[in-house]
Amino acid sequence: RSLSPRPLCVQQITVCVRKRPLNRREMNAKNVDIISIPNRDSLIVHELRHKVDLTKFLEHHKFRFDYTFDEDCSNTLVYECTARPLIQTMFEGGNATCFAYGQTGAGKTHTMGGEFYGKQQDCSTGIYAMATRDVFAELASPSYRELGAKITCSYFEIYGSKVYDLLAPGKPLLRVLEDGRQQVQVVGLTEMPVSDVQDVLHLIELGNRERTSGQTSANAKSSRSHAVFQIGLHKPDMWGTFGKCSFVDLAGNERGADTNSADRQTRIEGAEINKSLLALKECIRALSRQSSHLPFRGSKLTQVLRDSFIGGEHNKTCMIAMISPGLTSVEHTLNTLRYADRVKEL
Ligand code: ADP
Ligand code: MG
Repeated sequence: RSLSPRPLCVQQITVCVRKRPLNRREMNAKNVDIISIPNRDSLIVHELRHKVDLTKFLEHHKFRFDYTFDEDCSNTLVYECTARPLIQTMFEGGNATCFAYGQTGAGKTHTMGGEFYGKQQDCSTGIYAMATRDVFAELASPSYRELGAKITCSYFEIYGSKVYDLLAPGKPLLRVLEDGRQQVQVVGLTEMPVSDVQDVLHLIELGNRERTSGQTSANAKSSRSHAVFQIGLHKPDMWGTFGKCSFVDLAGNERGADTNSADRQTRIEGAEINKSLLALKECIRALSRQSSHLPFRGSKLTQVLRDSFIGGEHNKTCMIAMISPGLTSVEHTLNTLRYADRVKEL
């Protein structure tokens, strides 16, 4: 497989799939890899690998996306094809948004936040950090050096219908207000001025610690919350943000099915996750159709990200759907692929 991406998609909406490798636990349990990626834009789910009649299913389970990344692809390659082209959007004054979607354990946080070494995460290897590096490189280029533009970072989490500032330990709960002109504001959200990549890595580490604090297992709460990391570009002669990049590590999509759980809190959270992922799909579809009706009030997630879905062709969105390769995950995997498929279907 060649590592050079084909000419970068400059389309408004890019939808990609990334498959992670089978992990040790799955291999020990004799779980089999049922996903093949024959080329860089298609993917096949071999659901009936052990049965005789393969052909029928191969037909039914073949998907096409803008990019498909197999288990040998690095975070760097995924970044280059997905989030990298969005940086320019921010410098042109638009809003760029990149979503990591998929089942818990499929690789959302690994891709967005950075690779794990045991429980330790190296946040310099994630999309947040790679994007930051390119933003500062662009800022130092001749066309921007003289401008005196400033960069800020925000990092927050949406859990149920509450929004928590991950950069404000101690007073994290935030209010979301919508004014008469439908402008949405997250009141008091920390927008931390940053001057280099090191500053930002520091903030990401701080935010990650907050995200998992008080949890018995790191994935327990984070699988039920959406994390949003934002880079803002500010020009000196302008009030507010000139352009913005948002990176969203979504709640595990399988949690949307928790609506049958015996535990009331889990049921409520499951319903909220379901609602937010449905609203997200509808908002991205509205963006792609240039529709004037934007159903962003459907959930806190889409309300907070409203600016990402308006603004016509100025705004760009990318979704990376993460999938687990194992046969035991086939149902969630197919759900993820169908969702990703529909995001772009007109
Ligand atoms: P999620 O955030 O979707 O719940 P994680 O990103 O936490 O999933 O990934 C679960 C585990 O799988 C982690 O230990 C992570 O390091 C590993 N993993 C995920 N994607 C990959 C990949 N592409 N290559 C190697 N390991 C991966
Ligand atoms: Mg995660």
